[in-house]
Amino acid sequence: SKPVVAIVGRPNVGKSTLFNVLAGEMISIVKDTPGVTRDRIYAEVSWLDREFTLIDTGGIEPESKDIILSQMREQAQIAIDTADVIIFLTDVRQGLIDADAKVADMLRRSGKPVVLVVNKVDNFDKFAVDVYEFYNLGIGDPMPISASSKLGLGDMLDAVIAHF
Ligand code: GDP
Ligand code: MG
Repeated sequence: SKPVVAIVGRPNVGKSTLFNVLAGEMISIVKDTPGVTRDRIYAEVSWLDREFTLIDTGGIEPESKDIILSQMREQAQIAIDTADVIIFLTDVRQGLIDADAKVADMLRRSGKPVVLVVNKVDNFDKFAVDVYEFYNLGIGDPMPISASSKLGLGDMLDAVIAHF
C-alpha cells in the first residue's frame, strides 16, 4: 500500500492550508480559530511519480479547549502509529513554544522519519535568520515554506519522498 505522510503541529501553524494545497482541492476547513472539527483529513497526493496518503492530524482533534500540549501529543501519537513520514509543521510568526520541544522529543524517540517544516516564511529573502531558532528542536534542518503562497513546497516534498 501507499506510504502515509502525517502533518503534525499546533493549532494555527497552517496544517489545513498545507494539506489543501497538496491535496489540490479545498477539502479541509481552514479557520483562524483553533480546535474546529474538520470533516476530511485524508488525501491522495502524488509528487514526481510517487504517490502517498496525506493525513492532517489537526482534523482528528476534538472540539475542545484542551491545552495545546495534550492535543499535540495525541496528534503526534497518531502520526507515530500510522505514518511512514511525519511533517512537523511550525510557524515562523508564532516561533517556538515549550510544547513544540516536547513533541519534537516524542517524535525523535519514535525513530520515525521527521521533516521539520517552518511555515509562513512568506519572504524567502531573509528566511535563514528567521528559521534559526528551529534548529534547537534537534530534529533536523528546518525547511522554510509558505503554504499560502506555495513557496518551498517542491523542496519539502523532495525531502518527504526521500524517506519512502
Ligand atoms: P491549522 O490550525 O494548523 O490547520 O492552521 P490553518 O491552516 O487553519 O491556518 C491558520 C491561519 O494561518 C489561517 O489564517 C491561514 O490562512 C494562515 N496561514 C497558513 N499558511 C500561511 C502562510 O504560508 N503564510 C501566512 N502568512 N499565513 C498562513
Ligand atoms: Mg487545521
